[in-house]
Amino acid sequence: MNRKVTNWNNFPQRDANLIKWQGSEQLTEGRNYIARGMGRCYGDAALSDNIVSMLEQNLFIEFDRQKGILECQAGVTLSEILEVIVPAGWFLPVTPGTKFITVGGALASDVHGKNHHVDGCFGDHVTSFQLQTPQGDLITCTEELTPELFHATRGGMGLTGIITTVRFNLKKIETSYISKQQIKARDLSEIIALFDQYKSYTYSMAWIDCLKGGKGFGRSLMMMGEHATPDELNASQKKSVLTTGSGKKINMPFNLPGFALNPLSIKAFNFLYYNKQRSRELKSVDHYDGFFYPLDAILHWNRMYGKRGFIQYQFVLPIEESEKGLRVILESIRKKGWGSFLAVLKLFGNQPSYISFPMEGYTLALDFPMKKGLLPFLDELDKIVHDLGGRIYLSKDARMKPERFLQGYANSSPFLEFISELNPEGKFGSDLSKRLSITS
Ligand SMILES: Cc1cc2nc3c(=O)[nH]c(=O)nc-3n(C[C@H](O)[C@H](O)[C@H](O)COP(=O)(O)OP(=O)(O)OC[C@H]3O[C@@H](n4cnc5c(N)ncnc54)[C@H](O)[C@@H]3O)c2cc1C
Repeated sequence: MNRKVTNWNNFPQRDANLIKWQGSEQLTEGRNYIARGMGRCYGDAALSDNIVSMLEQNLFIEFDRQKGILECQAGVTLSEILEVIVPAGWFLPVTPGTKFITVGGALASDVHGKNHHVDGCFGDHVTSFQLQTPQGDLITCTEELTPELFHATRGGMGLTGIITTVRFNLKKIETSYISKQQIKARDLSEIIALFDQYKSYTYSMAWIDCLKGGKGFGRSLMMMGEHATPDELNASQKKSVLTTGSGKKINMPFNLPGFALNPLSIKAFNFLYYNKQRSRELKSVDHYDGFFYPLDAILHWNRMYGKRGFIQYQFVLPIEESEKGLRVILESIRKKGWGSFLAVLKLFGNQPSYISFPMEGYTLALDFPMKKGLLPFLDELDKIVHDLGGRIYLSKDARMKPERFLQGYANSSPFLEFISELNPEGKFGSDLSKRLSITS
């Protein structure tokens, strides 16, 4: 079926042949097939000539409630998993900022959460998965049996084939609440110092006001959290110790006009957001849903950026260059007057891998509405990131040049060699892999 398809940021859009995954016999002819989950990546990773939707592969295979091990088909979403595991006292080992992604997408992007510096990526908790390779074989992959295929698939953006099932370890929880601490940082140096001071916290992230110049340059709100114990809950929370989200959602019914988000509206939002918290420190016990997934409460929030869509620009810098690099990049954005509504800073730990995104250092994610001059401006930011030894997240990328991928990812060459041996005919390929010359 030919359809217009786009990922979460609505850029780029393309016509594609959309098929529902039923088995390898569907892929005997043609090339440039790519698996697709919920299409929650930003960019062109889940776009290609032939898109294979995994959403009907949504069965649970096994849930060991004693040991906290789950096996399911690749199209099951994190949201569906939470509904099953939370009431049984388990949680996802790693979760991104939305629960509306599939487990196949989580492994293919090797997603990170607010706990990367402690728990690594999603793939670090996966013990095995099944993969339909370009040759049509269905292989059970583990780190011991198939080390290369295992590592090239986690973070491999669907280029090794179709992940059909995933088995992974869960995290034990006593309650579905998070004991949260929020601290205001006056400027960039203070927020970096706070991350360092509180790095033993399992979860941490900060929102940065990227339009503030002068004395308060880099002012931020830092948020830290731990899974709460039952004695930390209030009387009403104690009535439902292990519950999933409230399900209450508001909807963005249509695309906002392009002018709705402008430097003035973003500045006003930043001012209100930063000053909403009056005291420097605030402690509370909140449900996990609000802590991990605040944006999921607004269905279709991506429409806020209008029909032309937006780019989410996420980079990471090596730890020793992070403060300097963040200063230069935030200053370039501020001077341009193109503040980002969302500007999220996180700390990463070390991440040995083929092409998973994290490296030890700080990562910043920024949203920019599509507009004239944006793409050349992001090329300038790429140069700063790469001169400092950093890289751009593939799962958020729609425009990086191939040489930036090669430079930024230390293991890009062995990954390219592995892919060209595994997938010589380009059976699997996406618009991202063609743009970055990973596949021809
Ligand atoms: C609001 C929001 C917040 C986010 N926060 C974070 C975050 O904190 N951390 C983070 O790391 N990411 C984050 N992301 C990005 C998102 O988690 C990833 O892009 C994720 O891969 C999307 O999963 P999906 O099921 O939608 O996959 P898709 O977007 O459909 O596909 C993403 C990639 O996975 C591949 N893929 C999907 N399913 C399979 C399969 N079965 N077999 C092989 N390959 C497959 C696709 O080919 C593609 O390359 C966020 C996204 C949104 C919208």
